[in-house]
Amino acid sequence: MTFATLGLIEPLLRALETLGYQTPTPVQAQAIPAVLAGRDLMAAAQTGTGKTAGFAVPLLQLLAMEGPKVTANSVRALILCPTRELAEQVHASVAEYAQNLPLSTYAVYGGVSINPQMMKLRKGVDILVATPGRLIDLFRQNALKLNQLQTLVLDEADRMLDLGFSEELANIYRMLPKKRQTLLFSATFSDDIRLLAGQMLNDPLSIEVSPRNVAANTVKQWVVPVDKKRKPELFVHLMRKGKWKQVLVFAKTRNGVDALVDKLQGLGINADGIHGDKPQATRQRALDRFKASDVQILVATDVAARGLDIEDLPLVVNFDLPIVAEDYIHRIGRTGRAGNTGEAISLVCADEVNMLSAIEMLTRQTLTRHMEQDFEPEHRVPDTDASGQVVKKPKKPKKPKASGGGKRNLGKWVESGEVAVAEPSIKPVRKVPVFNTGPRKRKP
Ligand code: AMP
Repeated sequence: MTFATLGLIEPLLRALETLGYQTPTPVQAQAIPAVLAGRDLMAAAQTGTGKTAGFAVPLLQLLAMEGPKVTANSVRALILCPTRELAEQVHASVAEYAQNLPLSTYAVYGGVSINPQMMKLRKGVDILVATPGRLIDLFRQNALKLNQLQTLVLDEADRMLDLGFSEELANIYRMLPKKRQTLLFSATFSDDIRLLAGQMLNDPLSIEVSPRNVAANTVKQWVVPVDKKRKPELFVHLMRKGKWKQVLVFAKTRNGVDALVDKLQGLGINADGIHGDKPQATRQRALDRFKASDVQILVATDVAARGLDIEDLPLVVNFDLPIVAEDYIHRIGRTGRAGNTGEAISLVCADEVNMLSAIEMLTRQTLTRHMEQDFEPEHRVPDTDASGQVVKKPKKPKKPKASGGGKRNLGKWVESGEVAVAEPSIKPVRKVPVFNTGPRKRKP
């Protein structure tokens, strides 16, 4: 199959050729004809599968071929993204795909001054990429009108809900024209996403290019058990031993990012960090320098790193496991992209055993453990497997308390059902109203 057989016009074919895209990826092969046919989409695609081109390329074609010219302060297509970095990245891709078309594109997000964005919107923009909060601000300040909107894309919809954007999405939903095309993309599908889809989509075509909640199989994954306090030391040891050149590292908290970056810099290692407390410009600069290989180790929180596309990233390290198991799939999706192979190493301490178990259950695999010499943990990480069970070592029976009432110890026991991840199942889209579409109540 070629892009030409999918019915794309010449300016787009030329742009894809310039970018070196030879054959459509599976998600593109399914999404492109459906979007061109005007269908609503609900697409589950693994990270790094080429989903951005899957929606952006046919969208550009529709905008180039159909619909009136954009008017002042209007947009004809809106792509909503959960984070500023992702908005920048999606916009950069859209602009590349649009290089031979007379269409305008722009990205708006918070954390930077709103005035230049308002100025830019004055003439109208064909495709606007936006984070939900800033979009609403611009709308409320009358800098943006949505009555010309033909297509709405929700990118990484699951993450938008995880980040607490459901109220913003409900507000945006009220601002949209009823007649429009809606494309919903999400790496993972929870029941909340299905509810959102049921509300926002009209007779959607479901696309699922790979089993749901399964990490890219081009990524070699393994776990190194270690005591929590020795994680920084182990990281440096592995880095030196493996002669790591470019690594994206995930830490759980902003403080965790800062502490690891300080430690690495203190050792003369070229490291930088990105998290939500840092100004947008600083985050972007760190990312650009990492992409240009001017920074060797980039340490990030999940929010800051979501959706980042770094070409040929060989290695992702989970310094901490993510609290939400689905984030594991997004994290390791930063490597092994577009058919390349990659490696994902997780440093896991005993406290994180339930997270490990949840990840194994979600990805339906037992992660290989590798014990690093001289770093064997004092606090053993209990055995886990893909069934979601955490097998605890037998405990010594305690002496019963005289007064009774304490928990009885049953010796060898298996703890199950602790994991908060439900076995995923593919369910039909339900049409259940999520949003209150009635008139908005004014605050007194
Ligand atoms: P995405 O999943 O949209 O973030 O894309 C992941 C990476 O794959 C990006 O670097 C894209 O430029 C690249 N890519 C997307 N589609 C293709 C294709 N058909 N052929 C080669 N590379 C692609």
